Amino acid sequence: MSAIKSHPKGLYLIFATSTAERFSYYGMRAIFILFLTQALMFDKEAAASIYGSYTGLVYLTPLIGGYLADKYWGIRRSIFWGAMMMAIGQFLMFMSASTLNNTEVAHGLMYGGLTFLIMGNGCFKPTVAALVGQLYEPGDKRLDAAYTIFYMGVNVGSFAAPLICGYLGDTGNPQDFKWGFLASGIMTLFTIVLFETQKNKYLFSPVGEPIGIIPGAKREKQKDKAEQIVHPKMDKRMKLRNAVIIGLLTILLITFFCYAFPGDWVSIGIFTACIVFPVLVLLDGSLTKIERSRIFVIYIIAFFVIFFWAAYEQAGASLTLFASEQTDRTILGWEMPASWFQSFNPLFVVLLAYIMPGVWSFLSKRKLEPASPTKQAIGLLLLSLGYLFICFGVKDLIPGVKVSIVWLTGLYFIHTMGEIALSPIGLSMVNKLSPLRFASLMMGIWYLSTATANKFAGMLSGLYPEEGKVKTLFGYQIATMYDFFMVFVIMSGIASLILFLLSKKLQKMMHGVE
Ligand code: GLN
Repeated sequence: MSAIKSHPKGLYLIFATSTAERFSYYGMRAIFILFLTQALMFDKEAAASIYGSYTGLVYLTPLIGGYLADKYWGIRRSIFWGAMMMAIGQFLMFMSASTLNNTEVAHGLMYGGLTFLIMGNGCFKPTVAALVGQLYEPGDKRLDAAYTIFYMGVNVGSFAAPLICGYLGDTGNPQDFKWGFLASGIMTLFTIVLFETQKNKYLFSPVGEPIGIIPGAKREKQKDKAEQIVHPKMDKRMKLRNAVIIGLLTILLITFFCYAFPGDWVSIGIFTACIVFPVLVLLDGSLTKIERSRIFVIYIIAFFVIFFWAAYEQAGASLTLFASEQTDRTILGWEMPASWFQSFNPLFVVLLAYIMPGVWSFLSKRKLEPASPTKQAIGLLLLSLGYLFICFGVKDLIPGVKVSIVWLTGLYFIHTMGEIALSPIGLSMVNKLSPLRFASLMMGIWYLSTATANKFAGMLSGLYPEEGKVKTLFGYQIATMYDFFMVFVIMSGIASLILFLLSKKLQKMMHGVE
């Protein structure tokens, strides 16, 4: 697979760093809800709410981490401090699970651990993604393949972690959870050692300069000076105007979302940030017309991507219920645990990510490669088709009868094809479209769609049909699994169609970026 071989060595350092970091993230996450209910004795609803807030907030903080990296810290330092905070978080989780006889202390340590994990992820996640792009010249045709390889690294970690941390921590004995968290903590330390010892050897730009040291904003200033590029400047009046607009907008949005989601501070925070931060960037007076237009493209596509992740993230919620209650998981007399389905996706990602760079380069050589917005639309279409596939399996299903494992496996395979077309290509696109001074912040904004989608996913999962309960969505009655899955067929199908129709226009707005 020559497409895979011809990449800078730095990519493989980022690959390995991400594998280790994602191992720690997904390992902890795999046993977290069980830890809350079985060891800390939270009821199911409270545990689900803590879990939902945690997974929502880890994708909100990349905004702050991205901003800090672009403006002050630079990528390398952000990765280091991000991983350090995550390590502290994992060890606090380990300590929490080691002090189960003192409930108050265990709870305090757990909340402390989550806070560090959320802050650490905010610094790590957007910056490691932005770093990939800096290994290449702008316009390098290998970028989509590079992000796909990076994504493979992410998923090697996501695949192995639940198996290992689950094996160590989820034994039925609440005293064992600590071993799962310890494994995650050790992996985070390994992430730090790996990155810190290897970064000076491998992280160089194509012209041989070390990358990720100087913050993007400073580096761009130096470049502009050298190339005599002049950006419009923000004067005092402009800054004051922006502060007033952002202040008023924030107050207005918080008030509105307080009514929409009473008491749900995580949703209020996420939805407010989703509007305020993107507007804040657009108001930046230093943006040229072309830069602003490209940023608009990121926003429009990020909006559609929310529909992808909201349907995709049913994996941890309604689809796991479906696996557990309505799927016949018996293989040669042995019953596969329902949670194992969660490992199917990262496994498929690793397989498909190996093939896809070759496919893109094959198409590119024949001038047939779709543009990035079209790839996003293809991703959404495949998501819709995955749900359509399972609709055939559950049509006319009699309650109490289980369907074959083939349906859910097929759905996950089709969804993963969609993910490979959408997610790494999305990261690559954000990198290509962002001005260097906003490279990590724009990744943070991109991840906001995951934060929002996670919130929506929880709400949509509540539509899972239950006997004796009438559930409706915009007047559409959801009484059977078929009705439920159809919601996602329609939702992602419509989003895909609109994005297909918009893709020519979006391409124009990208001003030469492919
Ligand atoms: N599995 C990917 C990761 O952990 C997906 C992230 C996302 O954008 N939702 O990086």
